[in-house]
Amino acid sequence: MEKTLVFGHKNPDTDSICSSIAMANLQTKLLGEEVVPCRLGEINEETKYALNYFDVEAPKLIEKVEEAQKVILVDHNEFTQSVDGIENAKILAVVDHHRINNFQTSEPLFYYAQPVGCTSTVLFELFNTNNIKIEQNIAGLMLSAIISDTLLLKSPTTTDKDKKAVEELAKIANIDLSTYGLDMLKAGTNLDKYTEQELINLDAKSMEKDNFKYIIAQVNTVSIPDVLKRKEKIEEEIKKVIKEKGLCLFVFVITDIVNSNSKAIVLGERTDVISKTYEIKDNLAEMPGVVSRKKQVLPLVEKNI
Ligand code: MN
Ligand code: MN
Repeated sequence: MEKTLVFGHKNPDTDSICSSIAMANLQTKLLGEEVVPCRLGEINEETKYALNYFDVEAPKLIEKVEEAQKVILVDHNEFTQSVDGIENAKILAVVDHHRINNFQTSEPLFYYAQPVGCTSTVLFELFNTNNIKIEQNIAGLMLSAIISDTLLLKSPTTTDKDKKAVEELAKIANIDLSTYGLDMLKAGTNLDKYTEQELINLDAKSMEKDNFKYIIAQVNTVSIPDVLKRKEKIEEEIKKVIKEKGLCLFVFVITDIVNSNSKAIVLGERTDVISKTYEIKDNLAEMPGVVSRKKQVLPLVEKNI
């Protein structure tokens, strides 16, 4: 029989990779049969740092799933962000912390979702309610996922549950939270090695609402001006994607993780969606205090469409 596969969204971030590994670990223990963590894209520098630190192998890369393949989704539910073939897969469970959208199944399923900062926070609770001990390296990866999604508990998406989980997981993983957290986040800000095309795809999420197709991409940095040195080339690549995919809007959010601010390159026919709230000059919007796509950028776009 085909093994069950666990994966997060395309253009995987640290949560998508680490929560896949943690969920596969939990399910394997609960079911007594191997459940396989997978990924839908390249591992980014931040995630690499976490996997190396805790000496865990990257999940295997998959591009599509066959009909009736048993799958578990973590860190997403929208089919536009999932694996090719998801429409005909058998979704056994979802563990997530996003809105529910573009999602339907033909059969009943387990759905574990909470409005918390990270999928691994939901998983932390699942390990506990099932009385499964969290191994040191798995705890380290779950901790890394929460640090990544909440920018070391500074993002407005952070909840008390995230803080509690982080506290416990840091003990199990036996690490100093702020030292490790900053080192990991910094590893993710090394953007020089990416081409402009890679940069705009690194953490891009495709969205669709009533035929309004758009992408919100985000990169973390310690220096926004550094990234903006490449603004012209980035804009060229964004324009290509807009044309190829027939997008109405592309928002490329550049987030300063030290000062918790963002600027965004905004292109497309419908830049008014952003300019209603943030002034755009030379395709660039200032977004003071913005760090969360999910809680600060996405709701704004959906409201202004
Ligand atoms: Mn994610
Ligand atoms: Mn997440």
